[in-house]
Amino acid sequence: MKILVINAGSSSLKYQLIDMTDESVLAKGNCDRIGIDGLLKHKSAKAEFVKEFSMPNHSTAVRKVIEVITDKEIGCISSLDEISAVGHRIVHGGEHFKEAKLVNEAVIDEIAECGKLAPLHNVHSVSGIRACMEVLPNVPHVVVFDTAFHQTMPPEAYMYGVPYDYYKKYAIRKYGFHGTSHRFVTQRAAAMLGKDVNDVNLITCHLGNGSSITAVKNGKCIDTTMGFTPLDGLMMGSRCGAMDPAVVTYIERIEGKTSKEMDMFMNKECGVLGISGVSSDFRDIDDAVAEGNERAKLALDMFIYQIKKYIGSFMYILGKIDGIVFTAGVGENNPELRQEVLKGLQNIHIDSKLNNIHGKETIISTPDSAFKIMVIPTNEECMIARDTKQLVESLKK
Ligand code: ADP
Repeated sequence: MKILVINAGSSSLKYQLIDMTDESVLAKGNCDRIGIDGLLKHKSAKAEFVKEFSMPNHSTAVRKVIEVITDKEIGCISSLDEISAVGHRIVHGGEHFKEAKLVNEAVIDEIAECGKLAPLHNVHSVSGIRACMEVLPNVPHVVVFDTAFHQTMPPEAYMYGVPYDYYKKYAIRKYGFHGTSHRFVTQRAAAMLGKDVNDVNLITCHLGNGSSITAVKNGKCIDTTMGFTPLDGLMMGSRCGAMDPAVVTYIERIEGKTSKEMDMFMNKECGVLGISGVSSDFRDIDDAVAEGNERAKLALDMFIYQIKKYIGSFMYILGKIDGIVFTAGVGENNPELRQEVLKGLQNIHIDSKLNNIHGKETIISTPDSAFKIMVIPTNEECMIARDTKQLVESLKK
């Protein structure tokens, strides 16, 4: 079974074609600048290129992808018929979607409805789904939500201290994001520990450009750091993270910003970028720290401090844990940061040789440690493809 995984953004559409017999990636790429001009980055065993193609909308982008992957010379499948299903990544599933769903009109309407909570995301997902359904009308389409894994949080974790009516009327609550990644590494961690996934207690740290930490009890999320939007929790590459909410209205007032401008400011100009004045990319921050840049050092210190603070509070909530997982760009590739985060944790010892790992599944703690510290590369596309396969197979039964 071959599954096409689609992640549609406002002007981009990422794709992977996965062969589910061994979960190998046959082709992957990104359509960029959709609606502007159009740029296709594509990679497979037979070809790797970046080319300009006209992509006035998502539909033309999908058609181009299909054309390339079925091309006689450089394609990796001989016809569209080889694609058994399409799995779509959706950012926000609200309270409605607790698991992957087969797409139908009612599901599309509900995704659009959840779009109220994620105005920058769901509308483009719907465009992506419609475009793919147009080009591949005869295969099942499945939607997988970033928020779904976090739907098991108890109310005391997901409610905010605003009037209860606001929860009822406006669905204001914590949702959490990166759920597909947290779920993927939870399953991998259970396998590495030789335990049933329903028996593991973990703290999963997804540290990338966007970052979140999740408390997992018996394989299920019981709390996470991102909230109503991905702005909450840790300070990130360019997002401010949690702060006194009064800061928002104060900056709006003294800087004369509209709420839309404020939203942009908190997402794009804050965090590690805002503090350091250097970059939102942690590699640039590391370089600047090495050159003695004090604001870059402060940004890094703040990030590490906040990770420690959330790990500490989740350890207390969970009681007993089997492990801490590091994943995503920074979590997988930054041994120094992992070392700093774990410094001072009682009864945990890191094998510095094992910790010197980049993007490879590894237990980096010594055997005498109280629990395991793991580096696990995330793979959201694979998780989406697995969900899609499972749902499609269950339909046949
Ligand atoms: P996102 O998916 O949220 O855009 P990623 O998970 O790709 O982000 O993480 C991006 C971050 O990971 C960047 O800040 C980058 O510096 C860091 N990163 C990626 N690869 C490496 C690497 N090989 N070494 C160190 N840091 C890396």
